[in-house]
Amino acid sequence: MAQDPSSGPARFQNRGSRPMKGPAVVPAYPSRVDLHTHSRRSDGILEPQALVQAAAAVGVRVLALADHDTLAGVRDLSAAGTPPLPLDLVAAVEINSVASGIDRLWEGELHILGLGVDPDDEAFEATLQRQRDSRSTRFALIVARLRELGLPVDDGAAAVRNAPGSSLGRPQIARLLVAAGHAPSVDAAMKTLLARGMPAYVPRQGLGPQQAIAAIRAAGGLPALAHFADGPSRRALVTDLVSEGLGGLEVHYRHFDAQTVADMAALAADLCLVPTGGSDYHGDVETYAEAHAALFVPDEDAEAIYAALGREPVDPAVGGASS
Ligand SMILES: [Zn+2]
Ligand SMILES: [Zn+2]
Repeated sequence: MAQDPSSGPARFQNRGSRPMKGPAVVPAYPSRVDLHTHSRRSDGILEPQALVQAAAAVGVRVLALADHDTLAGVRDLSAAGTPPLPLDLVAAVEINSVASGIDRLWEGELHILGLGVDPDDEAFEATLQRQRDSRSTRFALIVARLRELGLPVDDGAAAVRNAPGSSLGRPQIARLLVAAGHAPSVDAAMKTLLARGMPAYVPRQGLGPQQAIAAIRAAGGLPALAHFADGPSRRALVTDLVSEGLGGLEVHYRHFDAQTVADMAALAADLCLVPTGGSDYHGDVETYAEAHAALFVPDEDAEAIYAALGREPVDPAVGGASS
């Protein structure tokens, strides 16, 4: 059930200075929409197909697979010869943009979801490949740093690196640290070793927020600012991003408390941003069903996304004009 998001494993997901100590969100009905998930093609645990099946099993009808800097999972799910999906898949990515010059940001980053991007857009794929190359370089530097610290994970790292089309990130290294007995949990490894300011931290290289927004727009997607709980208190920053092309705001984020959701919804309405929402499911601390139990994304978020993308819903029960 819903845990206090300010403590425990969820804390690393709470990326901002706003505390999440208020009453938790109580789902009005089991969510049929989840517009933010990760698979094994980036730093999630589940294979894309297993994620889709787990989501469908608890009633999700519209799912965005938003792996970091890769559409490999989306392509796997829509490859020739694969069975029809039991839900409507929204092709998406999450770009952890490097927000140089903007102070007081978690890890110096703004995470931009690209919802509904064209998986066949070659220029976008080239951009994502450069992002993945930067991730690969950073991954190797972190592994080297850990070796210097007497916490080697080289063998496991070699296996992780060999997955084709996949996107490397710190959670994979955190899992290797746990498997090697160097850390008690993924969350502890992130907090004590891999987070900014910690001994094995290596700065990220890659797109800035404006570039990420532009690249997503050029690929036909809706750029949405992910899990930015500080948005209501940093309205000028969000407004600047809107002027750069930001089109959505993640309002119904699983780790937000009820008041934060309300404040984010008001901000989205004020700035004419499409409200989105999702679980940000990775799979380290719970099953998809457990994450889903604490998630509330209203059907209206799917309607808004379909309208913004100019798309007809595949499943008229969710996102259709009559729902
Ligand atoms: Zn993120
Ligand atoms: Zn995410």
